[in-house]
Formats: sequence, structure tokens, C-alpha cells
Amino acid sequence: MSLQEYRGVMVVAEQKNNKIHSTTYELLNWGRGLADKLDCGLYCAVLGNNVQELDELIFRGADRVYHVSSPCLENFLARPYAAALARLVEEEKPEIVVAAATTTGRTIMPMAAARLETGLTADCTGLDIDPVERILLQTRPAIGGNIMATIKTPFTRPQMATVRPRSARQAARDTARRGEIVAKHYDGALFSTPENFLAFVKDTTQDVNIQDADIIVAGGKGMKNREGFKLVEELASLLGAGVGASRDAVDLGWVPYSHQVGLSGKTVAPKIYIALGISGKIQHLAGMQTSEYIVAVNKDPEAQIFKVADLGIVGDALEVVPQLIDQLKSIKANA
Ligand SMILES: Cc1cc2nc3c(=O)[nH]c(=O)nc-3n(C[C@H](O)[C@H](O)[C@H](O)COP(=O)(O)OP(=O)(O)OC[C@H]3O[C@@H](n4cnc5c(N)ncnc54)[C@H](O)[C@@H]3O)c2cc1C
Repeated sequence: MSLQEYRGVMVVAEQKNNKIHSTTYELLNWGRGLADKLDCGLYCAVLGNNVQELDELIFRGADRVYHVSSPCLENFLARPYAAALARLVEEEKPEIVVAAATTTGRTIMPMAAARLETGLTADCTGLDIDPVERILLQTRPAIGGNIMATIKTPFTRPQMATVRPRSARQAARDTARRGEIVAKHYDGALFSTPENFLAFVKDTTQDVNIQDADIIVAGGKGMKNREGFKLVEELASLLGAGVGASRDAVDLGWVPYSHQVGLSGKTVAPKIYIALGISGKIQHLAGMQTSEYIVAVNKDPEAQIFKVADLGIVGDALEVVPQLIDQLKSIKANA
């Protein structure tokens, strides 16, 4: 089969308990950008059992939604999900398939890629289209995060990639958009697996999930010591914000790893990200630069963090933050 027979961009929806997860809207944002550049359709693959509210996927940018529905897909099992995805791709032949780099995406995409005998770039932080070759440019950190590599899949189709959650904003919602929902029903034999779903056990080892916070106050080595870092926590508490940290702050033991933002930590995209005493090395920026509004306090006017900041304060965080805290306390007292 020639490469030209493949057309369109397909994103793989994330769902839990047969309800679409918001990560899917980030994928649709990526997918819409790619499809517009290629002037082709954007498809959304939904794997599950009677997944609800598929119209929402059209409002968020999909031109066509393929719903592979089966009781065998009620709970997530790697083999049935990968088999369903591979079958759908064989039938519809999209040139690009993108899923989230979540547990689900990271599990089924390699299995589907192996079945389809094509390449996969995992954990991308950026996707684009080469304007000359019209193929997918898949950017991800490489060599221990020291460089950003851009990878192409020139000889096979589809081009497959997983992207980090929160590496794009959610696609805007337009209820006037129209599209098509196509139900797919496959023979039960496709889903056969030696795996059995027993139970879902929630991970309780992480005390916070900063990825859900609208505001994050994050501190770095510039906070000097554990006492200084307490100012980060106090400001966060007054703002009802999550506490983030650079890797250095985590390595120094001021705050647990679950708060680390960046390449080897979490990727976040809150409405407001306040970086205190953080230099803004590339590995930190990789985890927060899609935040909507970035405020930085750093005593070095040349600090990298100011290149992504919407509001920058050049000053000593140990002096600026207590003033902010006092102001907020007095506003709250007078409210
Ligand atoms: C493979 C790999 C993965 C990595 N993953 C991550 C990651 O996930 N997250 C991450 O954060 N880093 C990560 N790093 C580390 C990263 O390269 C930086 O070392 C780290 O982000 C620096 O943390 P920092 O900004 O707190 O410290 P520094 O770079 O030391 O910066 C401290 C900043 O504080 C400022 N400052 C000092 N005193 C004050 C003061 N009183 N008031 C205001 N400002 C002050 C300084 O001007 C400086 O800009 C990774 C590195 C590698 C190689």
C-alpha cells in the first residue's frame, strides 16, 4: 500500500468509566492544528462501551468520531484496546495517529504500532507539520533531556506519536460545529485476551495533584532553604493554589517529588503560574510554559524564566514574597 493512501489525522480519546476525559480536548487542539496545516479531516477514535457525550468531541474540533463500542472494552485492558485501535486504523487509514502519553496511551500505542508495523515517537512535547515534506515533526526531549530531538517517520504510515498531557491547551468549544459520529462494532474474537480486569485501585501515594490546580506557586533554589520555601507554601495557601517546585528544590529536600514541575516531574498548565527563585532552565520550562499567565520573581534580570513570563519582578523573593503575603492578608482581613 502506498503512503498516499493514508489521509487525515486521528486522535485517540481518553475516557474513564465511559466518560470522555479533558485530556482528549488537548489532543483535539493538537490534531486540529495538524489537520488544518495538511488540509485534511480530524478524526477522533473512542474506544469503550457506550461512551457518553460524543457530540462534545465535535464541538471541540473533530470532523468525525469513530466509536468502537463493546462490552469487552468496558474496563481498560491493553490487548483488546490495542487490537481495536489497530483494526480501526487499518480500516480508516489516517496518516497521523496521536494519543496522550498517559498510562493508557503509553500502553496501547506501542502495541498498535507493532501490529501496524509503523514507527511511534513517545512522550512528545511538540508536534508540527514539515511544510515541504508534509510529514509529522515529532519533538521530544532526548539524551537525558539535554537536547530536544525532532523525529520523522518518512517510510511507513501511519505516523504515530504520544504527547504529554498539558503540553497544549484544551481546544475551544464551538457548539455550532457539525460532524459525524460513526459506530464501529467488531467481532468479539478481536478482543480476546488472557488478561482479566479485577479492580481499579486508586494511587494514594501522591498527596497533591498539582496538575489539577488553577493557580500554582512554585519555588526554586532561590528560596535559599527550607525556611525560605515555607514562604512559597504560605503564599500558595493564601491564594488557594497548588505548590510547585524546581528539581533543585526537590533534590534539596525542601518539598516532596510529587511537587516537581518539569521534564522529569509533572507537566502543568494552570491559569496562573508564579515562579519564585527559579532560573527557568529548559527542563523546568518544558513542564510549565503552556501556563496561561506566568509571573516570575528573580533577582537576576537575565534569568531565563523572564523570557516566558508575562509579568516579571526583578527582586529578592525573600523580600517580595513576604510583602505579597502581608498585602493578601490585609485584603482578606478587610473583605
Ligand atoms: C534530564 C534532566 C531532567 C531535569 N528535570 C527537571 C525538572 O523536571 N524540573 C526542574 O525544575 N529541573 C529539572 N532539571 C534540572 C534543571 O536543569 C535545573 O538544574 C533546575 O531546574 C534548576 O532549579 P532552580 O531554578 O531552582 O535553581 P537554579 O538554576 O540554581 O536557579 C535559582 C534561581 O534563583 C535566583 N535567585 C537566587 N536567589 C534569589 C532570591 N533571593 N530571590 C529571587 N531569586 C533568586 C537565581 O538568580 C537563579 O535564577 C533536569 C535536568 C536534567 C539534566
